[in-house]
Amino acid sequence: MRKFTKLDLSSVTANNRRNVFNCILEANQINRSAIAEKVGLSIPSVMSITDDLIQKGIIYVAGKGESSGGKRPELLAVVPDRFFFIGVDVGRTSVRVVVMNNCREIIYKASKPTESVDPDQLIGLMAEMTLNSVAETKIPDNKIVGVGVAMPGLIERGTGRVLFSPNFGWSNIPLQDELKKRLPYKVLVENANRALLIGEIKNMQPKADSCIIGVNLAYGIGSAIVFPNGLYYGVSGTSGEIGHVIVENHGSYCSCGNYGCIESIASGEAIARQARTAIVNKIQTSIVEKCGGDLNKLEAKMVFDAAKEGDQLAMSIIKKAADYIGKGLAMAINMLDPEQIILCGGLTLNGDFFIDMIKKSVSKYQMRFAGGNVQIVVGKSGRYVTAIGGAWIVANNIDFLSDN
Ligand SMILES: [Zn+2]
Repeated sequence: MRKFTKLDLSSVTANNRRNVFNCILEANQINRSAIAEKVGLSIPSVMSITDDLIQKGIIYVAGKGESSGGKRPELLAVVPDRFFFIGVDVGRTSVRVVVMNNCREIIYKASKPTESVDPDQLIGLMAEMTLNSVAETKIPDNKIVGVGVAMPGLIERGTGRVLFSPNFGWSNIPLQDELKKRLPYKVLVENANRALLIGEIKNMQPKADSCIIGVNLAYGIGSAIVFPNGLYYGVSGTSGEIGHVIVENHGSYCSCGNYGCIESIASGEAIARQARTAIVNKIQTSIVEKCGGDLNKLEAKMVFDAAKEGDQLAMSIIKKAADYIGKGLAMAINMLDPEQIILCGGLTLNGDFFIDMIKKSVSKYQMRFAGGNVQIVVGKSGRYVTAIGGAWIVANNIDFLSDN
């Protein structure tokens, strides 16, 4: 029988405090009665919460608003430098770090190449870049709420252990614990695709009964799903593995150990690999000149560039990739009827023609009448979006309003 637990008053208070804070954050400047109306609390409750937040230096009285008859009401605003959130994006080609202030403004950005995927060295680089970001911004340690690390692969929820990261060749690495040993801050490790989606949508929420899907088309392919009450993890925490849906029986070997996954055909790595194989098999293509004859330097971008110039081999590789990505998206649309699919990642930066091909493929495979209102859009938040998402995940998950 299902047991009903007693209402936890401390969590109700924390929740009210968070709602009031978020309301001020979103409004920029707002008075107490407007807050009460927006968050559905009484004016005395809002006054008690805002007095507490003012006393803790988290919000301040920024000025006076227009009078609606009586005294002019005080306008409240968030103190930007009261708290800071750090985000780290562990990419296959570079590690990026951002620092975000309490008004959710990015005040620091840095990037370094991922020279080694050896766990000890890479964890060392993450810690070093985090400490550098604090040193360069001169933020006192007690104002750092935490560090959100976006790591590709399957992450164990709660412990932040990397169960499996095919692109890094990692399995069972206690990333969160290792970083906690090296940093004097709270650390949260999250799957990179989930951080990417949060970085794109920030505090936007899907409509009721709907969801937003973020698809990362990059060195690998992954996705994340957000419902109105937050990120969807799944019962084992592994939701979103759209890149490892098998679309070709007896297809190419995939880094996950299966054959014929979408990722093994349509990821940046797979696009480059197919071009390399074709060149080895003496198929005529201008991609050879683009990599200066050195197949080790051949990247997916060169295949896209050649396709744009009319190279037949390049075009056939890109077409096939778009076709399979569309198949995967059509499946997701049929299953979930989302409000929006946001395409992100390096492959989306290669021009509209690729996105148009993907959209055509989706309409070819999507069930008639299913997902009639879905919008397929390209992410617009730039190269630091995943690191920004890491910082937002800290802001959304650590109760900094009560702790301090
Ligand atoms: Zn796979």
